[in-house]
Amino acid sequence: MKRTILLISLVILVLGGMAIGRALTVGTSADFPPFEYVEDGEFVGFDMDLIRAIADVAGLEIEIVDMSFDSLIPALAAGQLDIVIAGMTITEDRQRAVSFSDPYWTADQSVVVREDSEENLTVLFGNKRIGVQTGTTGDLWVEENLLNTGILTGRLVRYDTFVMAMTDLANRNIDAIVLDSPVAERFAAQRPVRIVGIIVTGENYGIAVRRGNQELVDTINEALRTLEDTGKIGELVEKHFQ
Ligand code: GLN
Repeated sequence: MKRTILLISLVILVLGGMAIGRALTVGTSADFPPFEYVEDGEFVGFDMDLIRAIADVAGLEIEIVDMSFDSLIPALAAGQLDIVIAGMTITEDRQRAVSFSDPYWTADQSVVVREDSEENLTVLFGNKRIGVQTGTTGDLWVEENLLNTGILTGRLVRYDTFVMAMTDLANRNIDAIVLDSPVAERFAAQRPVRIVGIIVTGENYGIAVRRGNQELVDTINEALRTLEDTGKIGELVEKHFQ
């Protein structure tokens, strides 16, 4: 009798452990509205709904964790995360470290200034202070095209989050921010900032997994197709972008 109880407890323990082991850890950087942000203590936004819908159709259990954008790829490569969804652009450099799903969104870069400032696109030239989020494509673009070329003679100021960059812009500590166009539009609708220019970069967002985890890439791509076909993605676009 005792033995049977022991055996049953063991089986329950093992099964329980397996169930826990099956939950995939999804990393994001929740400062990127309308893709991912925090509202009433919850992770919300297009990406958050999308990854939950993917998990639903693929029968996966997920747990979402928040970290700074530039920690996401190292954490994924180190095995602390299984999936990253963070409005992340598919770039050749990143493809050397992780594998991406099919693209699910496209974006360019926008230049944002304070609403009350006289600045225009020339804010990127000369002795100015330009804010970016560390490790983003906006960061790289400014470094490569403005800083390294001597067009920007002031400073490139890097922030952990766009929310911090927006606060510093409002406080006049920087003159402009370069960030993804859909997110710039959302900030411009909610804060006293305006967009003075678009840099056409034609970026595609993808969902990242550990490099070579083709099985998970296939699962995610298949789920994306299903969600497209059933109209669920259209529904999420309506919900987050009207
Ligand atoms: N799409 C940009 C990138 O991949 C910015 C993403 C973000 O800040 N969450 O670098």
